Parts: sequence; C-alpha cells; structure tokens
Amino acid sequence: MTDPNAELALADQLLDQSDASGALDHTLRAKEQLSSQAQPSPILLGHLAGRLIDCGSVFRRPDLVLEGLAILESRFDELKQEIQEASLHCNIGNAKQSLYDFDGSRAQQGFNPAAITTLIEAKNAYWKAFRVSDGSDPQLFVNLANCLDRSSRVVEALRCYDLALTVTPGFAMAELNRGMALQTLNEIAGVYTISLLLEALRSFRAAEAGNLPPHLREAARHQRVRTESVLTRLGWSEDRAREYDEQHRLEADAHDPYWRFCLDNFLALSEHALYCRCVGARRDDLSIPKPTGSIAGEFVPRLELLLNRMKSEFCLARALYYQATRAPGQWDLESFEGTFSELHEGEEIGLSSEFLRTSFRLCFGILDRIAQGVSELYALAEPEEALYFESFWRPAHQRNKGEERWTKINQQNNWGLVALYSIATDLNTKGGEWGFFKKHRNSLEHGLLVLTGDSGGVPALARPERILLEELTFAAFAEQTLYMLQLTASAIFSFVFCARAEGVRSLGEGPAIRMTMDKKDIGKD
Ligand SMILES: [Zn+2]
Repeated sequence: MTDPNAELALADQLLDQSDASGALDHTLRAKEQLSSQAQPSPILLGHLAGRLIDCGSVFRRPDLVLEGLAILESRFDELKQEIQEASLHCNIGNAKQSLYDFDGSRAQQGFNPAAITTLIEAKNAYWKAFRVSDGSDPQLFVNLANCLDRSSRVVEALRCYDLALTVTPGFAMAELNRGMALQTLNEIAGVYTISLLLEALRSFRAAEAGNLPPHLREAARHQRVRTESVLTRLGWSEDRAREYDEQHRLEADAHDPYWRFCLDNFLALSEHALYCRCVGARRDDLSIPKPTGSIAGEFVPRLELLLNRMKSEFCLARALYYQATRAPGQWDLESFEGTFSELHEGEEIGLSSEFLRTSFRLCFGILDRIAQGVSELYALAEPEEALYFESFWRPAHQRNKGEERWTKINQQNNWGLVALYSIATDLNTKGGEWGFFKKHRNSLEHGLLVLTGDSGGVPALARPERILLEELTFAAFAEQTLYMLQLTASAIFSFVFCARAEGVRSLGEGPAIRMTMDKKDIGKD
C-alpha cells in the first residue's frame, strides 16, 4: 500500500521521463487517497494541484486543469503557510495558460485584445510569482517568459530567458524557449538577420546538450537541424560562424560602461541589441521601416515623427536613471545642487532624486504617446482627447454605446497591438501587477512622492493635510524605475512592430517606403 506522498513522487519522476499516462495514473491515485483523509496536508494538496494541472495540460483535459486550479484558488491562504507563494502563483499561471491554449473558439476570434483574457490572467499570476519570488528559480522565469512570448511581448520574454540563464547557466528549458522566441521575433519584426539565426542556433545546441525530457530534446534537435540547414543555404560554414563570433566578442568587450549597462538591462532601442552585443547594436536604430525590404502607407512618416519623439525622451529617461543610480560615469553635479531645510532625516533630495523622478514620469509620458500613435494609426480618437496608455482602449463613455473604439481595435489582428494591450493591463490599478506605478505617477504629478533613505520618514508635523503623500525608499524607487524603463522600451518595440505590420499589409496599395536612418551614432551596417 503506497501513500499519496509516494504516488506524487512517482508522478513527478514519470513526468520528467515524458511518461504522462503513468504520471496521471499515480496523480489520480494520490487524489483518491487524499480525498479520503479528513485533514489532508496542505503540502500534498498543493503538490496534487500542480500535477493535475501538468497532466491536464499534456492531455488537453480542462477538467483536470480546473480541478487543480480550484484547489489552489480555494485554499490559497492555507497552502501559503506551507508552500512558497511564488510556486503557488506559478501553478495558477500554468493552469490559466493551459486553459487559454485549449480554448477552441480562439481560432475564430483571431489574435486580438478581447481574445486574450485568460492569457492576461495567466500573465498576472506569473508576475505575482515573479514579484514575491527570491529570484532563485529559473523555471519561474521561463514560464513567465513563455507567457510573455505568447502575448507577443517578445522583448520582455528574451530578458526573462536571460534572467533564467543568469541564475542557472545552460538551463536547457530556457535555451530551447529562447531559441523559439528569437524565431517569434523574426516573425513579429519581419526581419531576418544572420546573427539572429546564429544566436538561435547557439540556444538550440545548448538545449540539446542539456537536461531535457526526451520529447523536448527531440524538439531542440529538430530546431537545431532546421536552423543549420537555413544557414548552410545562406552560405554559412562553422568556420565562418566562429570568425563572426570572435569578431562580435571583441566588439562586445569594447562598449563603454553606459552602453554596457543599456545592453545588460535590455534598454537599447535596437532590434539587433535584443540578441547581440556587437557595435551594430549600438545605435538605438529602431524604426518603423524595416532595415531590409520595404513597407508602405501614408501613416509611416507621421508615426516615425512620433517615434523619434519617444526615442529622444526615452534616451533622456535612460540617461537620467543612469546618472541617479550608477557611480561610474556620473555627471559632476556639485556646483548645480541647491540647499534644503532638513525637516527630517534621511530624505533623499537633490538632483539625483529629481533625475529618478523625472525618468519615471518621462516613461509614462512615452506610453501616452504610444496611445496617440495607435490612435493615429487606426483613427481611434479626435485630437482633443487626452489619451492615457493604460485606459484609452475601452473608454468609459463608450461602454453602453456600441463600444466603437474597442470594436475597431479588436478587428485588427495585429501582434504588436496585442502586446501593447497586454502591457497596458499590467498598469491597470485593478488586477494589473504593476498598477501601483500608476499611483506613483499620480503622486508625482498631483501629490507628493517623498524618497527616503533606508530609515526615517516624514515626521508627523511636516505631513501635509490636503496633499496625497507617498513615501518610499530611494533604492526601492530606483528598482521600480528600472522596471518602468524596461516596460517602456518593450512598449516602444511593440509599437514599431504594430506599425510595421500595417506597413507590410499596405504594400501594393501605395508607394513603397524605404527609409535610410540618419546615423548620428557610430556603428556599422
Ligand atoms: Zn551583431
């Protein structure tokens, strides 16, 4: 007679060996045994829920997934006492993502904001896991990345695979999915480059050599062979690839500290920089027209004007963040500083803290410009309307009147647009995992956001009575500003991919546009 603990351990083992039928048998046996217990242990219940969700995903059985999800959601507080919260959220994310994948009506609905509700719930659960995790579980980063990739947020997905690979170098699941995400990037961006293929190949090779269940190793092998044959067809040999790698490595080492910081943190506005660190990645050369090939549409120059504005503001926001937080390369500010009354100990006041606030506010401004750009592209609003990125999609005043804008948005079937919508839901104050950024923005613009040192706060006698006051440490706000910059960079990419896809669709309807960027920065083609 076995016990549920042993049954679940066996199920784990069999899943690792890709024997899902065996795993399901043992999971169901554990379920039987646990259901006859008056007070089953939370650890075992959480374990059971995870296996039900895993097996349900493999066999495409929503009943099993829903059963696992019900355990996690109904007993969340109880389970949280015994099981890491991050892992519970992660399993909820897995369940929601599977339910999204099973939904057969998706094919008719197309890929649009209205059709990804369950995917957004999955994404929110993974972000919850991300925020409470201690950062040591590479699988969590991979699951989050996969969900972001599924939502067309490929820039952030690539960053999360990198996080997984930083925690566990060579982590095969991260390598395999990273290779696939690079292929998604290819499709979404509409650009093929040799270095992208070489980078995908590197990932597939690492995945194949790593520790994967048999069916995934086979997938890695298949992708590796396919990529190799494309490269061979393009005239690439191992020797040539090695030379190319060596050259790239030399160039990557030669970047100055600021640019290295940009590349390390996925803050370079260049498609090339998403997977490569050579000098070609240097220029923030993201533009709506493709680096190779043509697009069309009279909207392109108008949106490119807007993009230049966003990029210029982003360059300032990024530089200000760097000046506020990084010691090497900082501007000498001493002769520019003011003098302030010491009302309480530990307030971080002065130029560095203003740089940080300004950086954060600029990001929100850029996101609102993206809303303007989407409106310009699809004729969604009149020029007088003030558009806010997180809320312009489905305006309250149209809710009971045909929802013209929301309907129009959902007719587009555009990957970049879906990514933008998904990002906007992150900033939703109800349910969005980064909704508190919106609160910071309000405090910065209409209230007071006071940055403090690690100890101390505003004393009672100095607390305003009629102004909204928010306090947080300089370090916490710096961390959040970095994330805000990354989110904004990802949104700028998605905006470009959205406009570019419409430009490709317009080919044949008007004169083709090829644009040569004015290269104001050093670099090479
Ligand atoms: Zn390169």
